[in-house]
Formats: sequence, structure tokens, C-alpha cells
Amino acid sequence: MTTTLTATTSAATTDPAPADLLDVDFYDFQTRLTDTEQHALRGIRAFLDTEVRPFADEHWERAESPRRLVPQIAELGLYGNAFPETQQFDNSAVFRGWVAMEISRADPSTATFIGVHSGLAMTAIAVGGSDEQKAEWLPILAAGEQVAAFGLTEPGHGSDTAKGLETTAERRGQEWVLNGAKRWIGNGAFADLVVIWARDVADDQVKGFLVRTPTAGFTGTKIERKQSLRAVENADIVLENVVVAESDRLQRIDSFRDLAVVLRLTRADVAWQALGVAVGAYEGALAYAKQRMQFGKPIASFQLVQQKLADSLADITASIALCMRVSQLQDEGEQRDHHSAMAKAFVTKRMREVVARSREICGGNGIQLDYGVARYFADAEAVYTFEGTYDMNSLIVGRAITGIPAFV
Ligand code: FAD
Repeated sequence: MTTTLTATTSAATTDPAPADLLDVDFYDFQTRLTDTEQHALRGIRAFLDTEVRPFADEHWERAESPRRLVPQIAELGLYGNAFPETQQFDNSAVFRGWVAMEISRADPSTATFIGVHSGLAMTAIAVGGSDEQKAEWLPILAAGEQVAAFGLTEPGHGSDTAKGLETTAERRGQEWVLNGAKRWIGNGAFADLVVIWARDVADDQVKGFLVRTPTAGFTGTKIERKQSLRAVENADIVLENVVVAESDRLQRIDSFRDLAVVLRLTRADVAWQALGVAVGAYEGALAYAKQRMQFGKPIASFQLVQQKLADSLADITASIALCMRVSQLQDEGEQRDHHSAMAKAFVTKRMREVVARSREICGGNGIQLDYGVARYFADAEAVYTFEGTYDMNSLIVGRAITGIPAFV
């Protein structure tokens, strides 16, 4: 400890590192990871730099999910690395947060694909499935042999799904019949398994169903002309008398309250993902500022540009601190809904400001894909909205502060 202090102090007083050499992890938060985790993170970063980042713009322009990556991502152990059944080595929520950040930093669409398949769908099975359901699904999803989706949002219900969910489930003997519609479902047009959330007409409670596709009465249609997270293939889903066996109903989910446990966990992941979007944009802007010449100097030499970079790094640093703490709380078993909600709301707000500043630093080139910022700028909007909008997450925190729910 003493050695570190001395070294740091002497570096700070005698040899200040130029700002452009400093990593975004300004306060060395990553030193909290174990050696194994740091090593794994470096390997993941190298994979992202060679296999994901160089192709991200192309996928984005074509509005195509990078499905060729599915087996490679599985090999890296990135699906289901939170669950004892499928994790490749013992790791912390803090580590998984940094992984989500790194993936998003390379490509927010790839991060969202993983967030839907592994975060939402696999977590729903891990939290709500029986031992048999977990044994059947988690290993094949972790191996990338099948792709999963998570169908909660409906055309008429986004923020108010808890109360408003209209898709119905009617039990007939050992089977259920599902009817309704879903909107915005990531991977929903091609997934092999879609976790569908529907209201039981008998007791009015929300339950989860493992819908194996293709199946009669199920259609998933890709949503076209999206301008954010274009490389995520979202779908409109229609369910017309879709029959699901009782053995494919998530056995440990009896109400929306149980589903909220899944969202509590995944919302914190989205905070890390938003951090990655901010970092990706900030790094693009920094690189641009160093090479773009105006008035005979790199624009990075102007005070107002440095102010924007400093503000962005401060936003990123504060976001890292909050993300770290919410994941530590998860590791300690103390994470509550309002912790995740505050992290998601705060970090996505900071992200929005960082991507806007980064875009501004790049001038006109900031709106073109070739200059490394525009994709993050556009993608930030969807990340700001999904897994609970800024408003809804603020209201969850507001309820914790006042004890008064102000949703309606
Ligand atoms: P609305 O709920 O209609 O909200 C519109 C506006 O009204 C928002 O600003 C909101 O904050 C505000 N508002 C609503 N109620 C209140 C209130 N009480 N007080 C104050 N303001 C309020 N869903 C899935 O189930 N699975 C997925 O895989 C999935 N992936 C997605 C991917 C993308 C790219 C996107 C854009 C969405 C995805 N979603 C998915 C849906 C997402 O979770 C919803 O878009 C989100 O919850 C918001 O719902 P909404 O779009 O219907 O907006």
C-alpha cells in the first residue's frame, strides 16, 4: 500500500501523464477485479477489437444482428456467466459489469444482443425456472446452440406492463393457450426460444412461458427503419392461440413481483452497457480531437474542447463508481430495485450528455459513421429508453425516497 502511494505521489508531482495517455478508468477501479478476472477481461477486449469493432458499422448499416458471432461469444463464456450451471469460472457481478461495458464500448448492438439472450432470457430461466427447466435450457443457451428472446413489452404497454399487460394465458388441462401481441422484442424474429410474459386469466397474475419457435400461431416480424441500435433485430410478435405445455411455464414465477427480480438484475447490466456507449463515444471524440486541425492547431489544444473532454471523463468516472457499487451490492446480496433504478437512470443520463459532447467535438463529421462517434450517438437513445425509461427508473427511486408511488 505504501509503495503504491509513494509511486503515485511521485508520478503526480514530477511526471504528470499527458491527458491523452490516460485510460478512461481514471481512478483504477479495475484493480478491484481478481487477477483471473483482469486476465479474462483483457482476452475479451482483444476479441472485441479484432472480431466485433471492425465490423460494427457494417452490421449497423445493414441493420443485421451479427449472428456469426454467436458461437464465438459462447466460447468466451459470455452467455450465462452469472449462473453456477453455466459459468466458466467463479466471477463477480463487478467483473460481469466490466465485461458488459467492454462489449458495449466496441458495439452497443452486440451488447444488446447478449443482454437479451443471456441477460434477460437466461436470467428469467435461472431465476424463475425449475431445476429441470434450468438443466434443459441453460447449457444449450450458454453454448450458443440456440438463441433466446424476452417478450414483455406490448404495442399498448411499455412503462406500465406491471398493471397493463394484456397478453393472456388460459390454462386448459396440462396446456396453456396464449393470445396477444408483443413489440420491440430483441432477437424476436429468429430466436429459437422466446420467454413470453402473459396474464393468467384465472388469477390475473403475470406468468412466464417458454415458447419454442417455430410453433403454430406465433409470428415474429422484424421492425424495419430503426435509427438506433440498428444491428439489433427487434420484432413485433403476434400470438394467436399458441399452445404451451404446463411443463414450459416458468415454475418459480407467480406474479410480476417475481419478474421484477429479473429486471432488477438486468437493469444494472444496462447501466454498465450505457457506460460502454459513453466510453466508446468519448474515445472516438478524443482520437478525432487530436488529429483534427483548425486554426493551425489540433482542436484538442483548445481550452473549450478540453473542457468538454474533462466533463465527459468526469461523467464516465462518476458512472463507473455507481456501476461498481451496484454490482458490489449484488455480490453482497444487498441489491434492491431502487439501487438498479438509480444506476440505470443516472448512467444513461450521463451517457446522453457524453455522446452529445463527443458528437459536437467531431463537428459535421460527428454525424457520419466513419468517424467513430455517430453510431454511439444514435445507439444511446435506445439504451436510454429500454429496461425502464429514465422517468420510470426515477419514479422507482422517488418511491424509495418518499414511500409514495407516483407512477399514476
Ligand atoms: P412508453 O411507456 O409509451 O413511454 C413513453 C414516454 O412516456 C416515456 O418518456 C416514458 O418515460 C413516459 N412515461 C410513461 N409513463 C409515465 C409516468 N407514469 N410518468 C412519467 N412519464 C411516463 N422490450 C421487451 O420486452 N423485450 C426486448 O427485448 C426489448 N428490446 C428493446 C430494444 C429496443 C431497441 C427498444 C427501443 C425497446 C426494447 N424493448 C424491449 C421495449 C422497452 O423496454 C420499452 O420501449 C420501454 O419500456 C418503454 O416503453 P414504450 O416504448 O412503450 O414507451
